[in-house]
Amino acid sequence: MLVALDQGGQVINLLCLKTSQIAELKTQHLVCPACRQRVYLKHGQVRMPHFAHVRLLSCAYNSENESFQHLSLKKDLFYWFAKTAQVSVEQFLPELQQIPDLLVNDKLAVEVQCSMLSVAKLQERTKGYLSKDYQVIWLTGKKLWLGHRLTVLKQQFLNFSLHVGFYYWEIDDQKKELRLNYLIHEDITGSLHYLVQHFAFGSGELLTILRQPFLKTGSELRVQPKHDIANYIRRQLHYKHPKWLKIQELYYHHGQHILADKQDMNQVCPVGLNYLTYQFEGIKVPEFCQVTKPIKSYYQQFIDYQHTHRDAPLYSPLVYATFFDGNLKRI
Ligand SMILES: [Zn+2]
Repeated sequence: MLVALDQGGQVINLLCLKTSQIAELKTQHLVCPACRQRVYLKHGQVRMPHFAHVRLLSCAYNSENESFQHLSLKKDLFYWFAKTAQVSVEQFLPELQQIPDLLVNDKLAVEVQCSMLSVAKLQERTKGYLSKDYQVIWLTGKKLWLGHRLTVLKQQFLNFSLHVGFYYWEIDDQKKELRLNYLIHEDITGSLHYLVQHFAFGSGELLTILRQPFLKTGSELRVQPKHDIANYIRRQLHYKHPKWLKIQELYYHHGQHILADKQDMNQVCPVGLNYLTYQFEGIKVPEFCQVTKPIKSYYQQFIDYQHTHRDAPLYSPLVYATFFDGNLKRI
């Protein structure tokens, strides 16, 4: 952790002190802002200076397992935000019993998630912030970068806007950059397809960068069709993959064959939309705990658009919505 309270109850933020001032803290009586137990300064050769509890207690600041990556990213983001916004690091919020890594302008919680956590914990913390009218943005560290496939946990970090569809933030301590993955789509083999925008630390205003999902326009994504998709499905059925057996059964039940429509097989869809089963089961929207907007109309408009524009690239939800509103004659 990077903050502690001194004997007068003043917040000591290590990121705002000079080296000489930090050295003086070694002899001071300092306590944790949440549990009020003693903490001390750890100032080694390798890790940057930080505080640790004298005794390992259960406390909202679970700093004892905090990685160098996490401390370093909080520091970089703190200085970047501080150029143009009011920011505090690790501010304890008693009404929530939560400690956002950074709190910007008293309303935006920014969480830098470098380690694994349970889906339940992520949902609980996200809902906690939203219930008290904080906005929250999760920036994922290396272990949680999006990569080629979605996991149950990564799905819960996905967010959504009309301008860029599904998006996912990554933060990179080595390259010192923030990345916005957007227009995230998935093919029927579960491979992800998306666009990426890079932002070097310190370049531009960070709050404006974090608003990019609500500002960007004109993006489109083209995905090359896979030629071996039918073989992929045959293999899944051969090995009796439960998901594919269930889909096959559904097709049989409706007198159809799963391998009959090659174009359907190659359809790349917004994440969470099952293109092979919606015609039998209706559109089902899975849970995305960061997403507060309704997704179903996006899925429906996507499907309707694809029916008449087979070779079109993948667009943002706004493009489909505008098309069906009749405001735009031609896209
Ligand atoms: Zn504590």
